[in-house]
Amino acid sequence: MFENRAEARIDLSRLSENIKLLKKTSKTKLLAVVKADAYGHGLVDVAKAAETAGADWLGVALLEEAITLRKNGVRSPVLAWLVPPGSDFQSAVDLDIDIAIADIRTFSEVSRLASKPRIHIEVDTGMSRGGFLDEWEEFLKSDFSKVDIVGIFSHFARADEPLEKQNTDQLNQFKKMVSQLESVGVKPMFKHLSNSAATLVNPDAKFDFVRTGIAMYGLSPDVKTLGDSNELSLKPVMQLRAKLHLVKNVPVGSEVGYGALHVTKNATKLGVVAIGYADGIPRIALNAGVFVNGRKAPIIGRVSMDQFVVDLGSDSLAKSGDWVIIFGDGSRGEYTADDWGAASSSINYEIVTRIGPRVPRIYAPHVY
Ligand SMILES: *Cc1c(COP(=O)(O)O)cnc(C)c1O
Repeated sequence: MFENRAEARIDLSRLSENIKLLKKTSKTKLLAVVKADAYGHGLVDVAKAAETAGADWLGVALLEEAITLRKNGVRSPVLAWLVPPGSDFQSAVDLDIDIAIADIRTFSEVSRLASKPRIHIEVDTGMSRGGFLDEWEEFLKSDFSKVDIVGIFSHFARADEPLEKQNTDQLNQFKKMVSQLESVGVKPMFKHLSNSAATLVNPDAKFDFVRTGIAMYGLSPDVKTLGDSNELSLKPVMQLRAKLHLVKNVPVGSEVGYGALHVTKNATKLGVVAIGYADGIPRIALNAGVFVNGRKAPIIGRVSMDQFVVDLGSDSLAKSGDWVIIFGDGSRGEYTADDWGAASSSINYEIVTRIGPRVPRIYAPHVY
């Protein structure tokens, strides 16, 4: 029986605990956001586990992602919100997939289908990204008889900064646009606005369901403003580990990696870790590393495509073939996805979503 050289271990019981906690906190229905391969955790497995844990809805960006869910037997309501004109809207209707509409051109396209599509109207309440803005008044004069308007929603730009006035402004604008729609006789069953951060800190923005992504995966929407996973009682779902491909002793003054970015200050033992930027390890990562034999070993030199080098320390007992933890929940002192985000001028969201397809997802508890 052979082993992988790297693996992302996905503990779905942690996902389930996070969902239960978020449902308890929000006291409303929950849409589990499973876009981008469930933030790198595996679309179908996560969607099914989320359904079992009590998620009422599933949400994705792409129509293709929604179609994959349906083709794999997922029966919950599914909303796809990044569906531009020219998309396969007929499949959306056939497979009972809800789609977001944010402009008149797309609305006209879906209004011409033989059977009524289920749509959610997306409104721009101040983020200036998705949603109706300049076309809103004209849109309100549309013929809505050819569609089934299930929902209206918007998205916060700064929910992770609860004291920012923009949150209140967006909430008020959302309420205003909802009543404008209602005043032309359209009363969608589902209004929704909150992402993870708003679910955790903004009780006024819950409406008919919350759309939780990052928190469901056990990660904080913003470590600085909201605290880390631990402080939020969330359990990180993914643990990333890889094998030491090689362990070797090197003398003082050894130049390490492309560009000789690092020169050893002492004789030491190096570990070559069998995972690289092609697998999603950020090439610019500094001040991160791995956890092996109960301690941290920092990255030295540049991350390569398939591998990177760590300084194990001259007294290390690590051997080639040993597993090292790249990130986990931090409970044993290992690096976290938050640490890797900080180490690469990024955020935990990007760290987990960018883990590439060469890294198998193993649905099993974390190991130490
Ligand atoms: C990604 C996304 C979410 C989830 O955001 P989190 O911060 O991960 O909770 C919710 N709603 C929309 C429209 C999104 O695109």
